[in-house]
Amino acid sequence: KHPPSRKGSMHDVPQNLLQQIKDFEERFTVDQATLKKIVAHFVKELEKGLTVEGGNIPMNVTWVLGFPDGNEQGTFLALDMGGTNLRVCEITLTDAKGAFDITQSKYKMPEELRTGTAEELWEYIADCLQQFIEFHHEDENLTKLPLGFTFSYPATQDYIDHGVLQRWTKGFDIDGVEGEDVVPPLEAILKKRGLPIKVAALINDTTGTLIASSYTDSDMKIGCIFGTGVNAAYMEDVGSVPKLAHMGLPADMPVAINCEYGAFDNERIVLPLTKYDEIIDRDSPRPGQQAFEKMTAGLYLGEIFRLALVDILDSHPGLIFKEQDTSKLRKPYLLDASFLANIEEDPYENLTESLELFERELNIRPTQPELEMVRRLAELIGTRAARLSACGVAAICTKKNIESCHVGADGSVFTKYPHFKARGAQALREILDWAPEEKDKVTIMAAEDGSGVGAALIAALTLKRVKAGNL
Ligand code: BGC
Ligand code: MG
Repeated sequence: KHPPSRKGSMHDVPQNLLQQIKDFEERFTVDQATLKKIVAHFVKELEKGLTVEGGNIPMNVTWVLGFPDGNEQGTFLALDMGGTNLRVCEITLTDAKGAFDITQSKYKMPEELRTGTAEELWEYIADCLQQFIEFHHEDENLTKLPLGFTFSYPATQDYIDHGVLQRWTKGFDIDGVEGEDVVPPLEAILKKRGLPIKVAALINDTTGTLIASSYTDSDMKIGCIFGTGVNAAYMEDVGSVPKLAHMGLPADMPVAINCEYGAFDNERIVLPLTKYDEIIDRDSPRPGQQAFEKMTAGLYLGEIFRLALVDILDSHPGLIFKEQDTSKLRKPYLLDASFLANIEEDPYENLTESLELFERELNIRPTQPELEMVRRLAELIGTRAARLSACGVAAICTKKNIESCHVGADGSVFTKYPHFKARGAQALREILDWAPEEKDKVTIMAAEDGSGVGAALIAALTLKRVKAGNL
């Protein structure tokens, strides 16, 4: 199944608008040669991240030392602090092999929290946990529940139940947390509230995804998130991690690496950045960081689209949206990825849904040719994101000499953005040079719930190790 190509199907689009479309096509198209160049550089950066000196990509050691065997048991809490939602789960790994029960509550993280104070963040998290415990365990005398805390930001760890935040990503900007261990303030507030919870492990969502997916499918070798942010984790052997050499661990011991490859090419050597990407970076809370993420993640897709339209308004006054009030379109981050997704889902023949979207969200009534232009623009941005996303997966496979495997993926862009999977698969094919008659050897597929079940499994694996007196 191939992603649809709409090239050449445009009718009645005036010449000067066609020129705009052509400009966008040039800016946003990533051809096969560029994909290959990106992947070659990506592999080097992954390797560099494992060295003592390090590089752009953190390649964080997670202290998840192997895969679950399916016999893990017990009841665990999981706290998932992603980019958009906060989720609390209670997971019971039952005695049937590979089986579990899950109860969960989801809370929308208030926008202000992203740029508020650390106290507000911890209070909010404690509120959610408290509510969950009070609702599900009213009047029970609980013994301490072990918690897997999925904290989906780059954190360095010397132990699995600690983590020092390297830097905020995904638009977060809360003072006093970067450079600090995030577990003590969480434990302090749990204690203050008298909540019977003990942090057993701090986990990245990608690591959780890797572990949860491999639990049900042993061909899963990589866990990926294509969502508000982007990242992947995979299993390495200690012997291939020079920055662990001083610890004297067995060379064949497995250890999950949280790549944090949203930071790929922060030096801007190979990424085909457009002026819109430059503006996004410049106006973000952390300029110079997360270069790869800012071109591919859900948080930024709507903003890239908005900036491209604003560019036409400014550089070709009167060319589009003539005599309309375009003031709403000037508001940064007004549009999210679902806006683009909806446009891409709209049947090309009439684009009525897109028209409604523009009227509702932007107060603009585009003409039919303008609708065709924005549709093409959405396709280009969505396609670029999917093709670049494939580069990270291809780089890990190349680095690890993996010829064929399953890749467990989660995140709003992967699960909801139209054609993302097919476009990504097409890019993998171009990068990894499979023969036309060959089936996909590396398949990116829907993952198990990493920040819920994965977090519980990692907590279980950790407690098992503690009990056995191992590291
Ligand atoms: C974070 C990663 C996370 C990814 C997906 C990135 O911004 O740095 O830790 O895995 O988003 O949630
Ligand atoms: Mg998430």
